[in-house]
Amino acid sequence: MQSHQRVFVAGHRGLAGSAIMRALRSRGYANLVTRNRAELNLLDRAAVSEFFRQQRPDHVFLAAAKVGGILANKDHPAGFLLENLAIQNNVIEAAHECGVRKLLFLGSSCIYPRDCPQPIREEYLLSGKLEATNEAYAIAKIAGLKLCAAYNRQHGTDFLCAMPTNLYGPGDNYDLRSSHVLPALIRKFHEARERNQSKVVVWGTGAPLREFLYSDDLGEALVFLMQQCKAEQTGEAINVGTGEDISILELARRISELVGFRGELEFDAEKPDGTPRKLLDVSRIHALGWHHRVSLEEGLRQTYSAYQQSLLAACAA
Ligand code: GDP
Repeated sequence: MQSHQRVFVAGHRGLAGSAIMRALRSRGYANLVTRNRAELNLLDRAAVSEFFRQQRPDHVFLAAAKVGGILANKDHPAGFLLENLAIQNNVIEAAHECGVRKLLFLGSSCIYPRDCPQPIREEYLLSGKLEATNEAYAIAKIAGLKLCAAYNRQHGTDFLCAMPTNLYGPGDNYDLRSSHVLPALIRKFHEARERNQSKVVVWGTGAPLREFLYSDDLGEALVFLMQQCKAEQTGEAINVGTGEDISILELARRISELVGFRGELEFDAEKPDGTPRKLLDVSRIHALGWHHRVSLEEGLRQTYSAYQQSLLAACAA
């Protein structure tokens, strides 16, 4: 990928997409093509085809997806399955039709079987049953990964698939019904401190383990893969993570401390725990030459600081 080439980032406003944009800009890529939802509906196959015919990107990052936390996934499986299949089918097919050199499709660590050995190696894909709370999303992502592999085999394309672990960072979704755990806890602890509340409710038992990757680390990893690697080196999927995980209880304690909340934690066992653990084996991407940089401590500080700034900006507006 040369700096003069045209790069389309689908989903450029999301947590992953905005980090890809920052990583590309910091490396001097100036020929970046983006479209917001009002300008291009990725669910509309004809509109996506027409956009590719007009814009002719050389490289595509497919970071657009319908995403959400455990409850949103559990309660709206049809939307997660249908929308993700449509977005990825439309973009991947149009990219092939227009002769895109290279495409990078973003999956998720939830594509792996619920009870597979830990840390999770790429080859455990499809070796067992999926976690029920995010099965629909995972099935869509597995279909995207297989579609890329099928194009590579049948048409000789170079479509890569990266499987990131749970992401977090500035600009995340803080809506408590649809967000992931980390932004949800930042908001809950912050509001509890502001309102002098004595307790914060954490969903589930606190026992599940999760691995968290800072969004800028993901952006760096994806640009690295696009620049340096071919699909035949990465295999059908390549894990992107830190290789370290933490329990939800410990995460809650750390966020509580960072925010300065002095009350109690209460666990709501009515809410699902989800998969007990999904720690990625990241030896394949390490061997290719990429390693994460931002520690959880540093990433949490940056994320909380961005959250506080966004509240100030919203007050000023
Ligand atoms: P998952 O990794 O797909 O399970 O997605 P989440 O990030 O939504 O949830 C991770 C874990 O955090 C699950 O065990 C949740 O039950 C737990 N959790 C604890 N409190 C919260 C919360 O306020 N919001 C969310 N989304 N998850 C929470």
